[in-house]
Amino acid sequence: MKTLSIVVPCYNEQESIPLFYPAVDKVVKQMDVNVEYWFINDGSSDKTLAEMERLHDDHPKQVHFVSFSRNFGKEAALYAGLQASTGDYVVVMDVDLQDPPSMLPTMFNSLESGEYDCVGTRRVDRKGEKKFKSFLSSQFYHVINKISDTEIIPGARDYRMMTRQMVNAVLSVAEYDRFSKGIFSWVGFKTKYLDYHNIERVAGDTDWSVWKLTKYAVDGIMSFSDAPLSLAIWIGLFLSIVSFLGLLFIIIRHFISPGASAFGWSSLACITLFIGSIQLVFTGVVGKYVGKTYMQSKHRPIYIAKIKK
Ligand code: UDP
Ligand code: MG
Repeated sequence: MKTLSIVVPCYNEQESIPLFYPAVDKVVKQMDVNVEYWFINDGSSDKTLAEMERLHDDHPKQVHFVSFSRNFGKEAALYAGLQASTGDYVVVMDVDLQDPPSMLPTMFNSLESGEYDCVGTRRVDRKGEKKFKSFLSSQFYHVINKISDTEIIPGARDYRMMTRQMVNAVLSVAEYDRFSKGIFSWVGFKTKYLDYHNIERVAGDTDWSVWKLTKYAVDGIMSFSDAPLSLAIWIGLFLSIVSFLGLLFIIIRHFISPGASAFGWSSLACITLFIGSIQLVFTGVVGKYVGKTYMQSKHRPIYIAKIKK
């Protein structure tokens, strides 16, 4: 019989965990598979760890957990879970039951058929989400797919089941700044996507503010594309052509009507400011990439675990 590892990142989820386990357990009991759970406590400040301890004590063979020394973020938690998992298949799930457990048998059967290495899920709507947030998300997918060679499926969730071979491939991508949606796609393998309708959280609140999502989006774009760097070249080229034409205009006008070239200082100040600020922006963009390289060059661990059971 195959073993299925269920990896569950949790950050301040004391209310969700007691609802999650029975809901998933009910589904996997009907499947022909051994199951191991890997809960990751991502430095929660509530009773999340106590809930995990309790589940582990109730089901010591089946339920395991890793507890981080602080909050390292969901990406690090996913990595820790994949690293700890031992199953032939691994599924990554949110603890808030936004990832419907009822899809597990279908995912499992698709992998069992041998036709696919991975079964991902994709939300077809964003019911219950703020309009502004949905708009930003769709723009993000549009931009990143334009400028990156790695395809990022719009609406794809982290909820996916993978073969051991694919998990090992994902683990081999051990970069510090992790953008899983990109990494899952980058490693390749044959992936099937299942569609489903958005489900709201069972308990607790999402930790993702618009600001955090924006930072996530910028990180994602920077991890999988160097287009922002080349943007400097294109804007620089465009501006130099414009200023060359301007210069040509002034020279020609000087010969047609001498003495007419004196303009106010304000236009000059604006132009200087404009060019200066563009240079500053792109120094910033370059700085961002240098910063990422710097962080990566330290070869820091992606997370630090305090307890593992
Ligand atoms: N999560 C985490 N670390 C964090 C933030 C979130 O492990 O720093 C977990 C969280 O507990 C949940 C999953 O990641 O299981 C998804 O988070 P959330 O439901 O807030 O995001 P959304 O479903 O809105 O994308
Ligand atoms: Mg959620």
